[in-house]
Amino acid sequence: MPATTEPRRPDNHDSSFSLLRRFGMASLLAFVVVAALLGYVFRVLSVDNLINDYQSQHVNHARIIANETWDEHFGPLIRETAGLPNLELATNSHIPRIYLFVQKLLEGTSIFKIKVYDLKGRTVYSSDLSQIGQDKSGNAGVIAALQGHSSSQLVHHDQLSTFEGELTDRDMVESYIPRHDPDTGQVTGVFEIYRDATEVLKQIRQREFKLVGSVIALLALLYLTVFSIVKRAQGRLVAQSLARQRAQEALAESEERWKFALEGAGDGVWDRNLQTGQVIFSKRYKSMYGFTDDELENRSEPWDARVHPDDLPRVIAERETYFRGSTPSYVSERRMHCKDGSWKWILSRGMVVSRDAQGKPLRMIGTHSDITERHKHEQALQLSSTVLHTMDEAVTVTDASNTIISVNPAFTVVTGYDSCDVIGKTPSLLASGTHDDAFYQQMWQGVNSPGGWHGEIRNRRKSGQLYVEWLSIKRVCDAQGVLTNYVAVFSDISERKASEERMHHLAHYDVLTELPNRALLGDRLSQAVAVAQREQQHLALMFIDLDKFKPVNDTLGHPVGDQLLQAVAARLKQCVLRDSDTVARIGGDEFVVMLLDVASVQDAMVVATKIRNALEQPFVLGAHTVSISSSLGIAIYPEHGDTEAVLLKNADTAMYYAKDSGRNRVQIFRDGLNAI
Ligand code: GH3
Ligand code: MG
Repeated sequence: MPATTEPRRPDNHDSSFSLLRRFGMASLLAFVVVAALLGYVFRVLSVDNLINDYQSQHVNHARIIANETWDEHFGPLIRETAGLPNLELATNSHIPRIYLFVQKLLEGTSIFKIKVYDLKGRTVYSSDLSQIGQDKSGNAGVIAALQGHSSSQLVHHDQLSTFEGELTDRDMVESYIPRHDPDTGQVTGVFEIYRDATEVLKQIRQREFKLVGSVIALLALLYLTVFSIVKRAQGRLVAQSLARQRAQEALAESEERWKFALEGAGDGVWDRNLQTGQVIFSKRYKSMYGFTDDELENRSEPWDARVHPDDLPRVIAERETYFRGSTPSYVSERRMHCKDGSWKWILSRGMVVSRDAQGKPLRMIGTHSDITERHKHEQALQLSSTVLHTMDEAVTVTDASNTIISVNPAFTVVTGYDSCDVIGKTPSLLASGTHDDAFYQQMWQGVNSPGGWHGEIRNRRKSGQLYVEWLSIKRVCDAQGVLTNYVAVFSDISERKASEERMHHLAHYDVLTELPNRALLGDRLSQAVAVAQREQQHLALMFIDLDKFKPVNDTLGHPVGDQLLQAVAARLKQCVLRDSDTVARIGGDEFVVMLLDVASVQDAMVVATKIRNALEQPFVLGAHTVSISSSLGIAIYPEHGDTEAVLLKNADTAMYYAKDSGRNRVQIFRDGLNAI
């Protein structure tokens, strides 16, 4: 089993899961910064606005005050005190008068205090009389005003002396205003005007708080809205992430199983990127071709890099057919080159797993199966099938219950039955009925023996005609030795048998009379002598030669002579009644009759006489009637010879003796006949 991977638990610290926290922190920070900036900007703008506003008002006030006071009070004061040291400025005699005048002038205005500086930056007048004589030449507002520029600043005073008396905790807008000579335009002095901005600033702060509060409230609302959206989005993301993770785990698990199934089945897996040519091979794929794990690693390899050149055109055509959609799946058998240079028969199967928008294949996954052994087996089977279908011998295959499951074409030729006539039946439908049960019992004993059974058997064709076949039956067992089939191979030997019988007949029988010839007579005589010897019986051997047969030929023609010989043979057979006796023709007009187990010479003599008389009767041969006689010589076993040769010779001698003695007679052999 493959190593199964434990499904990964959803990770609460997964990056997607911290989205809400990070968003919350970042957005809160951003909102706070925005609110602070907004408040700050508002305040700065408001204060600047206030100062600018006050400054422009102060310029006007300064002009008014200058118009009212300069020529009469401050102008002369500055000129008079120009040469005095600082400490003596406050003691000027005009100061009380000016103080009262200014106090009256500014009564009811928002100007709380004024100061006047000379061109040296010294305080020549101040509503706070204690400040007269102070050197303000280093003050930036004084310096700027002496250079002709007005300026204002907001200054907080914990305590302040004004016309109104001592004031505490006040914000003052202090403006430095240059006083220009109306004729020359030169700066002749500087006014500093104090104006209370405490109340205004208080209002500004209140507005600022309201604004910032509103902004914060709005931002908080917005934040909460966005936070809830993000929270929901995160919930979905988490759910999607979990679903994706589960799907990936399921996919990984399924891929593991799929890979295991394929690898377990012995198939190699390939995964090809059709655009880049990059292809990934499984471990089994590599080992199939003799490569190690680290070879063929994520490489770009042409499709047909290792296909046998002879198979290549077909392989390309099969692939293109698949890409065109003409075939539902890609299946291709081909030889592939192995690392060691050998070739393997491979079954390649695959399918496109991804296409672009135009349907162009992008990726294809498939397997390679090593079918080399199967291919060899198929070739062997093909060869066997070809042999089976072309062989002259008929073949019948049955199952273990002897039911026919297959026959070859030669079977039909021999028996006349088509395969559909016999499949599902038993071979007994060919039985001729000419063999007894014992024959079949013996046959099945042989079939079930290790060597099987073979022999001749007479069967019957579909036409009903009998024929003889040479049959060989063998058992077929499976790897466990269990009987699965019987295979019978047979050939029709009827003609050969007939031919053999003809040859045998020709060799042993006389063609004209169908009687046994000399050879067969010799065999039978030999057997008969052996039996007679064993059984201590007598046997008689008669030599018969027709008298004056030659003239028949000469006068009536050879064919009539043949007819006469056939007729003689027939009469001889009629004279010999026992099946065990033999009538043979051993040449020309010579016949031999062999009588087994004769009781005495007289018995033989009776038969001989019967023959002589029979042959003496006229023969009607077509239009001719022929009369003829015969001469017979008899030799008896064992009296006249105890071997075939001696018996034949002595019977022949006796016959010639009869012939010489005038013909148409019977002569029993006796010693001395030769002498005549
Ligand atoms: P004999 O009385 O001395 O026996 O005189 P024969 O005329 O019978 O002469 P023989 O027995 O010596 O010769 C037999 C003749 O039979 C010789 C031959 O021409 C003839 N013959 C041999 N075989 C055949 C045959 O198959 N058919 C015919 N028609 N004649 C045969
Ligand atoms: Mg003769």
